[in-house]
This record gives sequence, structure tokens and C-alpha cells, in this order.
Amino acid sequence: MSTAPARSAELFPVTNPATGKLIEEIELHGIADVDTAVGSAREALTGWASTPPGERAAILNRVSVLIEERAEEFALTETRQCGKPIRLSREFDIPVTVDNAAFFAGAARSLEGKASAEYSADHTSTIRREPVGVVGSIAPWNYPLNMAGWKIFPALAAGNTVVIKPAEITPLTTVMLAKAFADAGLPDGVLTVLLGRGPDVGEALVGHNGVDMVSFTGSTPVGKRIAELAARGPRRVHLELGGKAPFVVFDDADLEAAIHGAVAATLINGGQDCTAATRAYVQRPLFRKFADGVAGLMESVRVGDPEDPATDLGSLISIMQAERVHGFVSRALDAGARTLCGGTAPDGAFYRPTLVVDAQQDSEIVQDEVFGPVLAALPFDSDDEGIALANDTRYGLAASAWTRDVYRAGRASREIAAGCVWVNDHIPLVSDMPHGGVKASGYGKDLSAYSLEEYTTVKHVMSDNTGVARKSWHRTVFASGGDHG
Ligand code: NAD
Repeated sequence: MSTAPARSAELFPVTNPATGKLIEEIELHGIADVDTAVGSAREALTGWASTPPGERAAILNRVSVLIEERAEEFALTETRQCGKPIRLSREFDIPVTVDNAAFFAGAARSLEGKASAEYSADHTSTIRREPVGVVGSIAPWNYPLNMAGWKIFPALAAGNTVVIKPAEITPLTTVMLAKAFADAGLPDGVLTVLLGRGPDVGEALVGHNGVDMVSFTGSTPVGKRIAELAARGPRRVHLELGGKAPFVVFDDADLEAAIHGAVAATLINGGQDCTAATRAYVQRPLFRKFADGVAGLMESVRVGDPEDPATDLGSLISIMQAERVHGFVSRALDAGARTLCGGTAPDGAFYRPTLVVDAQQDSEIVQDEVFGPVLAALPFDSDDEGIALANDTRYGLAASAWTRDVYRAGRASREIAAGCVWVNDHIPLVSDMPHGGVKASGYGKDLSAYSLEEYTTVKHVMSDNTGVARKSWHRTVFASGGDHG
């Protein structure tokens, strides 16, 4: 089964945010469908969990190949439902997902536990890595296909079954992914897509007694709600939440690299990226040149039709999101900040790249997730201050340090609280290395072997190796040595 049969009969218009035009009307699932989907996932669990890793891997490999064969269709659909530039879809979103599927195909066959050994003289211990069970996954709209893949691939590789709910505004590539799995021979019920809204279908999935683990990527407030609901199970929770990544430029940095890096890392996916650069802290001697360079480069960015390969920045996900972003900038200006570029009212769902200076460290534009093409730049004096400012938000997903000094780089990597610290770059990721936050950015890892482990339980099997009826430890219970008869 790929998509649970719809019973709500509510039609939802999936629209292209760049044009406002309808792409497709989808039938939303209702709360009753959650029961059906979770029931199918439970039924399929025993069979899938006992499928040899090599066979699970073969299906994931076929999915990787199918996505690659259908890359252009995936890329166009992703661009149309999100408004993101087609170059990003073609060169990032789709190849990353192809590689992820192939990575987890390999990882499925390499789960390890501790070696069997005699930790007590009378027993042999072994570790079994087992699937958690039925995983309820909820994904956001910013990278719909990537985020669905990050959840589905490791969970299936480890032998779990999955019910996934994409964001209702961007469901199309997740449905295409489920179709690729069906075409690759995934048995019915192992993966089901639920199309529905967060507060009803999402909450019903998180709270369902047939779900063993909840894996969520999305905003911090919704993540908190999900953790509360899951605690009632209780069931295991994996949370990939918001970010507010600092971009720390020390005074020995390669300025040109820092300027290009900052603009690229701010504007990727229209800034709707949980790891995007959002706060540039620049040591005072470089501050003016950095700010002028960033503003100049931002001005040169081509904003326009997402389907045109020449476009650098497409639309945001919706008119509402563009207005929300502009609200942050307007309030910052009201509080005394200035823009060195951008900051003008949105044009539909389009928002121009914006550099904000003179904002206060404790202001919302520096502290809260804006999720748009907006960078706030602030100066700092000592290295201590730069690192302290970088750590001064509730988030801790990603960060970068720009310096030619190996000791400064080492210190920043150690002392900035984040799941990932880049040195002289900001944004790249690889399937082989983990992604996930600390503090209010959540817990648990996506990508890499760490992610595979998240979707397993560790079972200790302790086997008596003496064969005697009266074990030596029985003396702690039977003073007579158990000799009653
Ligand atoms: P969101 O939290 O509004 O929604 C995410 C998903 O949760 C959607 O599918 C939505 O329908 C569902 N949802 C909403 N309310 C729910 C509820 N009460 N119960 C269950 N499900 C509910 O997030 P978004 O706006 O779609 O995505 C943007 C956010 O995602 C940003 O905060 C961004 O930083 C974060 N994000 C984090 C990562 C990461 O790896 N840490 C990656 C991508 C996006």
C-alpha cells in the first residue's frame, strides 16, 4: 500500500506559490484513515522485520535507481509545489535523495552490536539490534522529498514499517516516492502516506497506540506538542526542529570566501532551510567590508521564475510566509535596525534578499527563526564575545566559523553548541555523516549510521553456558543452596 484510502473526502488544492495556480487537488485523509494505515503497518511489521537485510537493501537500491530515472519529473514537481529554483531541485534535492536511498541500502546490511562475549563467567552475552516497530513520521514543506527520504530510508532499512504524513501543502513528491517504493516491490503496508493536516491527522498519528516511535521534522513549537503527545504512550520520539545558525567571521578570515559563503548559505531554498545562515557575527575590523560585500552580492541575485534555470532565488512557500518574513524585517526596522539591501514589501510570495544591520542581539530578528532570505549581521570584538554571541539563542542545529587560524577553528568547533559546525563553509551535508540538533533544535540524528541506530532497539540476550540446574547465584536466595528435598 502506498497511500491510505481517503475517507475524509475533503479536497485540498496544492498550488504553485510562484504563480498561484492550482497544480493538483488532493483528497485529504481523515482521522479514521490513521487507524487503517497504522493497522496495515502493524500487520506488515513481522514480515518486513524478518526480511533479510540484503532483500531490504535491494528494494532501497531499486528506489534509488527509480528516483534517478524519474529525476526530472521529481525536480519539476518539487519546484512547482515549493517555488524553489529548478537548479536547486535538479542539483541538490533530487541527487541527495538518490544518494540517501543508496546509502541506507548499504547501511541496512551493516548494523553492528557488541561482540558476543562472556561478561560473567557463566553466561554468553549477545546484542541484537531490532527494529523499533511501527514508525509514525511527520515531515515539513521546505525540502519535502529530502525530508521524507531522511525519515523513510533508515526506518525501512532497519526493518520498521512507516506511516508518513507530509506537510499538506507539499505532498506530491512524497506520493511519488511511495509509488517508486511500490514499483520497486515493497510489500503492501510497509510504507503508507497519509495526506492530512497536522492538528487532526498528525496528532492522531502521534497519539495512536499502534505507533511505537514518532519521528518529526518541523518547527520547535509543533515539536514540543508532539513530544507531549508521545509522552502519553510513552513512545520513542525523534525531533529535528528549528534552527538559527550563526555564521562567525574572525578577523583573519578569507573575506571573499566569507561573503560568498554567507550569501549562498542565507539564500539557499529562499532561506527556508533549518541550517541556513541567519546571524553573521563579524569581527569588527572586517565588519564594514563584509556587510558591503554581502549587500552587493545579494543585489546581484536573480529573483524570478523558479522554473527558469537562470533564476537564483524563486518564491517562498506562500504569500503568507513572505508576509511573515516581511513582518520580522519591518519590526526590526521599527526597533532601530537598518537594511543594506532588500527589506521591501513582498511581491506575492517573492521576497528580495535582505541584509539587516544594527539589530540588537536580544531582538526577535536575531533570536527567532525567520525562515526567509534574510541575514542579520552584527559586529563583535574579542573571540570570546563572538563565540558567546553565537551561543546566545535557544537553538543549536548548525553553525560555521570562518578563519585561517587552526586554533580558532578548533575552539569554535568545540565551544559552539550545535549539531554541526562547518569550518570555512556553511550548508553542505553528506549521507554518511549525521545531521541533528541540540537545545531547542531537538534530539536524534538524521542521515548516517547514527540515524539507522535511532530506528533500532538494543536487546541484550544473556545465555547460561553452564547447563547446571542450581546456578551459583541462587545462593543469594536459598540459604540452603536450594537443597529442599
Ligand atoms: P511545522 O512544524 O509547521 O509543520 C511540520 C509538519 O508537522 C507538517 O507536516 C505539519 O502538517 C505537521 N503538524 C503541524 N501541527 C501539528 C500537530 N499539532 N501535530 C502533528 N503534526 C503537526 O513546520 P513547517 O513550517 O512545515 O517547516 C518548517 C520548520 O521545519 C522550520 O522550523 C524548520 O527549521 C524545521 N525544519 C527542521 C529540520 C531539521 O532537520 N532540524 C529540517 C527541515 C525543517
